Amino acid sequence: MMAALSLPGVESSALKNSPSAHLGVLAMLGRARAYWRPYKGLGAALVVLLLLQQAFTTGLAVSLKLIVDNVLAGTNDPPLSLILIGLTVGYVLAAGASLAGDMLESKATAAITNDVRRHLFQHLQRLGMDFYTRMPLGDILARFSSDLGVLRQGLTRRMVEGVLSVLGLLVNLPVLFYLEWRLALLTSVAVPLMVLVVGRMTPRAADATYVMKKAEGDVLNAVQENVRAQPVIKAFGLHTLAMQRFHEEIDALAKTSIRSGFLISLVGTASALGVQSVQLLITGIGAWMAFRGDMTAGSLVAFLSLLTVVSKHTYDISKRVVPALIRASSGVRRIEELLNAPVRVSDGADAARLPPLTGAVRFDDVRFGYEETPVLNGLDLEITAGQTVAVVGASGSGKSTVLNLLLRFYDVDGGAVRIDGTDVREGTLDSLRGQMGVVFQDNFLFNTSLRENIRMARLDATDDEVEEAARRAEIDALIQRLPEGYDTLAGEGGTRLSGGQRQRVAIARALLRDPVVLLLDEATSALDPATESAINDTLMRVATGRTVISVTHRLASAVGFDRIVVVDEGRVVEQGTHAELLAQGGEYARLWAKQDGFQVSADGRRARVDAERLAAIPIFSVLDRPTVDALVPRFVSEVFAADDVVFEAGDAGDRFYVVVRGKVEVVVGGEVVAHLEDGDIFGEMALLDDTTRNATIRARTQTLTISLGRDDFHELLDSSPQMMSEVEAVAGRRRTSPG
Ligand code: ADP
Ligand code: MG
Repeated sequence: MMAALSLPGVESSALKNSPSAHLGVLAMLGRARAYWRPYKGLGAALVVLLLLQQAFTTGLAVSLKLIVDNVLAGTNDPPLSLILIGLTVGYVLAAGASLAGDMLESKATAAITNDVRRHLFQHLQRLGMDFYTRMPLGDILARFSSDLGVLRQGLTRRMVEGVLSVLGLLVNLPVLFYLEWRLALLTSVAVPLMVLVVGRMTPRAADATYVMKKAEGDVLNAVQENVRAQPVIKAFGLHTLAMQRFHEEIDALAKTSIRSGFLISLVGTASALGVQSVQLLITGIGAWMAFRGDMTAGSLVAFLSLLTVVSKHTYDISKRVVPALIRASSGVRRIEELLNAPVRVSDGADAARLPPLTGAVRFDDVRFGYEETPVLNGLDLEITAGQTVAVVGASGSGKSTVLNLLLRFYDVDGGAVRIDGTDVREGTLDSLRGQMGVVFQDNFLFNTSLRENIRMARLDATDDEVEEAARRAEIDALIQRLPEGYDTLAGEGGTRLSGGQRQRVAIARALLRDPVVLLLDEATSALDPATESAINDTLMRVATGRTVISVTHRLASAVGFDRIVVVDEGRVVEQGTHAELLAQGGEYARLWAKQDGFQVSADGRRARVDAERLAAIPIFSVLDRPTVDALVPRFVSEVFAADDVVFEAGDAGDRFYVVVRGKVEVVVGGEVVAHLEDGDIFGEMALLDDTTRNATIRARTQTLTISLGRDDFHELLDSSPQMMSEVEAVAGRRRTSPG
């Protein structure tokens, strides 16, 4: 499998070069050979064409000897007309060869760069989720843009120039010997000497360039992050900070690119100066020899003329080809780094196609962590085929991780995940995932027709099958009503559809596979209550005959499931039906009490809290019932969109909030310190003191809150100073909570 993915002809040992290892010019020539291997024919034709061009240049120089000697001797042998005809024919051939050469070279360049693109992209498809959480997008894109650019420049265009120059030297050096062997000897000693000196300077230039490429990737990452973070940057007024950080990045880039640019030029300039000194030396000695009659004037002219050609070739090699190879070596190193990124999750050597499954799922003492911190700590879970199971628990307890392991987005660190009794690692990824359907909270829709978006799940599905899946997801009627029906484009990221429609398209996509296991990760959590319950009903209807595992933090969505599993700190702490768990009075009952007691309007924009629920909040617990009843209508509903800031650290605070539906994060000093969701409260201290907020609260998804202002609170309590002091006492014990 690996061999099919390595570059054509590059032995895996060459690819295993450690990333810090320097790639010298020789190693680069090796790479060039590997990249060109599939295009041997093209390359050979190109060499022939280059030889033709070279022959003409040489012929032109040699003809000078004949012409000058003819002129000086007053003879016409060979006849001038013959020389000129020969030159004209040569010119036409060389011009044709040059055009054809350009054509072939462009072809080879396009083919080679596409090979690299293909390999990179293919490897990206195989890399696991661990890679994508680790590797910034900018670094990946840089491989396809600037790294590939220098690779193309160095290994194709400049490589052809290099071959042309080497051929030029090979053709012309013998001619130099023919014209005057002593001068030629001198030339052929001086030139390689110079190449050696220059060669010693290249490693440092190559390393400096590699460092610069890294800095370029950092800048791309910074831009990309900045673009994605614009809502936060605007909301928090972080422009100055962002500019400052960016300046640091580009200053670092400037430093490294000055160093790399200078070292590369130094290589070129040193060799150019060397070439000129050789030329100077030869001109001097040659003139002296011609003067003494050791060579003819014609030979001197031809020799000097060819020396210019030879010098130009040497100059090209050292000033253009070698620097391009140095630049390309950093690109090649970075591209090979990506191609060598380990594929953590892949089909094992003896992985077999899983037979059609029944969908019995079992987690045996599963241990797993994304990084060092363990996330699952010996999780046991057994689900019989056809059961519907809801996995609930606090944010960060490891619910989604359970699905990630079942889908083999990651492999377990300890224990095993089994399906129908087989360890998921023993089956092929395709045969495992092919029998599952997944609906996430956000489902990526491609900007193509709805039909194609649904068909992604099974590319050979007929239009009828696509429509049948849509019918079962209960979106067929709606799609039919669209002016372009199933051919309607989803819009970038599915933006032409409402949240509920997007989820239904995603459900249709999952159902098209007729999966034995249907996995739902907060599939309806982000929707308004009316849409949520409609889609939950649909999901219940399509659940028959399959195993359904639904991860949700909203317990109301879990009520009807055969079994509810409560996860806490990576372990299953309770399981049973809704009624059993409530009766048990444990973690589930506690979570239920927290989320219960709110009436939410169908559109999810207004909420009302029950008096009993309010009385369960510590600082209201000491109020008498009429006061609590009077507080209820004073709460104001407010909806925050994802990324909206509820309030910022340092703001004057005078409101107390309850999250009714949704998720917010608590940010202190730029770090997310907690996630709050349905039923959580924040900012209660603001009801009592004139405080400033000590944390920033930002919505992660669309969030419905209700809040109470200090003025309203005090107005109601002013009549009862004794009640107020009891409230103060309760609050005193809770001064450490955020907000
Ligand atoms: P839940 O779905 O219950 O909210 P998750 O299973 O998504 O929780 O996450 C459990 C823990 O693992 C959290 O602490 C979370 O920060 C961490 N985590 C989740 N995904 C990754 C990831 N890709 N890389 C590193 N840590 C992660
Ligand atoms: Mg989750």
